[in-house]
Amino acid sequence: MVSGPSGAGKGTLIRGVLEQVPALAVAVSCTTRAKRPGEIDGREYHFMSRAEFARLVDQDAFLEHAEFAGNRYGTLGSELDRILVGGRSVILEIELQGARNVRALRPDSISIFIAPPSLEELGRRLRERATDADEEIAERLEVARGEMGAEAEFDHRILNDDASRATNELVEIIRSATA
Ligand code: 5GP
Repeated sequence: MVSGPSGAGKGTLIRGVLEQVPALAVAVSCTTRAKRPGEIDGREYHFMSRAEFARLVDQDAFLEHAEFAGNRYGTLGSELDRILVGGRSVILEIELQGARNVRALRPDSISIFIAPPSLEELGRRLRERATDADEEIAERLEVARGEMGAEAEFDHRILNDDASRATNELVEIIRSATA
């Protein structure tokens, strides 16, 4: 699983890895946050209302779920099964609480922390992305401070100062873990 602050570049690195390692797939999570321009339901996320999300929690459908910056996010157990049954390895892109929960449930999983060069740079990237409101960016930066303090919990840490170098590092870690 791949974790690290919002804006650290997890999504970009994972897309790069998928191009190089065909035996991998990313689990599509559920979220209650609003769709950003360009996002497609069922591709980036399964977008849903809080009521729908709560119903799935009641049905015990999630492997893990967490609250992040005012929204709920979760990985469906069925999504994991779908990928694993197909014989592929699965990448989860999740925030810190989810990573902790998955680590407890699946101690054999590999956890990777993607670190931004600095909090200042993270703020710059979040503002540049310009998809979130100022308030939301501030909240994500606040959460990031806490997440940065947890990187020692992870099996691996990748500094994302250069996307192509960091992608290669991620590919190497995944290749040796799945070999
Ligand atoms: P974003 O709103 O930027 O897409 O995601 C916010 C945070 O939620 C990111 O750190 C992302 O990795 C995390 N996230 C996405 N899907 C899940 C999930 O299924 N479970 C958990 N715990 N976190 C998730």
